[in-house]
Amino acid sequence: MYDYLIVGAGLYGAVFAREMTDKGYKCLVVDKRDHIGGNVYTENVEDINVHKYGAHIFHTSDKQIWDYVNRFASFNNYINMPMADFKGERYNLPFNMNTFKQMWGVTEPEEAREIIERQREESGIKEPVNLEQTAISLVGRDIYEKLIKGYTQKQWGRPCNELPPFIIKRLPVRFTYDNNYFNDTYQGIPIGGYTKMVENMLDGIEIRLGVDFLTNIELECQAKTVVFTGAIDAYFDYKYGPLEYRSLRFETEILNLPDFQGNAVVNYTDEQTPYTRIIEHKHFEFGKQEKTVISYEYSAEWQEGDEPYYPVNNEQNNALYQKYLAEALKKPNVIFGGRLGEYKYYDMDKVILSALQKTKEI
Ligand code: UDP
Repeated sequence: MYDYLIVGAGLYGAVFAREMTDKGYKCLVVDKRDHIGGNVYTENVEDINVHKYGAHIFHTSDKQIWDYVNRFASFNNYINMPMADFKGERYNLPFNMNTFKQMWGVTEPEEAREIIERQREESGIKEPVNLEQTAISLVGRDIYEKLIKGYTQKQWGRPCNELPPFIIKRLPVRFTYDNNYFNDTYQGIPIGGYTKMVENMLDGIEIRLGVDFLTNIELECQAKTVVFTGAIDAYFDYKYGPLEYRSLRFETEILNLPDFQGNAVVNYTDEQTPYTRIIEHKHFEFGKQEKTVISYEYSAEWQEGDEPYYPVNNEQNNALYQKYLAEALKKPNVIFGGRLGEYKYYDMDKVILSALQKTKEI
């Protein structure tokens, strides 16, 4: 008999298992995949840590979380500075003076502010209510048209006026020459890969891989409490209908050259290019290998059987989630956690915080 059966060996599950094991509880971790790490899993290919389920750059402003992850890995000083490609034109991200200079030729912050203000006024937006209006208010119409509209529609499969503002507010807008994609105090990539970090978190804890909990539900009887980090609607067999997710597909290539694009991340922001971005994994760790590994990232609407990656947190889905949450609250012996269990577009540090808070609460 276990105290906790933890379903999912991603960040939420690993942190929960570590904390409760250290408090003296007996934990079993199961995962339907044949590896630990969930979507932060990295795989060594040609001596390069490949982010198998998409680029993960750790960033946080929470000292407690930073100290916590540093117990399990040393972090390098990688700073994310993605580039945007719009039909061959190159722009710095996030939106900052470099972007404004490339877009309009302006060099002073005041000039950029004036252009944005003028474009906002021309579009007649007073109180932005959706992503499109929020984007135009923040950075003007030119940047919206070239760097946001196409990318967002590809990423989310919905027009920008049907998406919530919070998605675009993730990105900083700065009137300084600063290409750091994040505003957080701490940032980096675990040296040796995320898999090693999660392995260290799970050190000494029983793990069973290749076990799909939902088709082996009898496992539930082996523990006093289940921690479920899969999709909450799947747990309840979609009884209120499926929540919407975006799924990703990666086409990965090994190239016989030392450098393909000179940067870890290049976003393709036009509508015609079918992929959203190309990741060149070695640059996350300043790799000097002779070969390089790149991944083309494609976004698609999730369908049963696909991997869910991003919850689509619009009003309709959030309302549906509330129904599942009400069901979840009727099950005191099941804890739902993580991006899929809580149906929330979480960053890694917030997932870790959520798991730590839950263990403290217990
Ligand atoms: N975004 C955009 N153009 C870009 C990069 C991002 O319009 O070149 C928008 C897009 O709507 C995206 C959101 O900003 O979904 C958040 O981007 P972020 O990089 O935070 O997404 P993630 O890395 O989580 O996929």
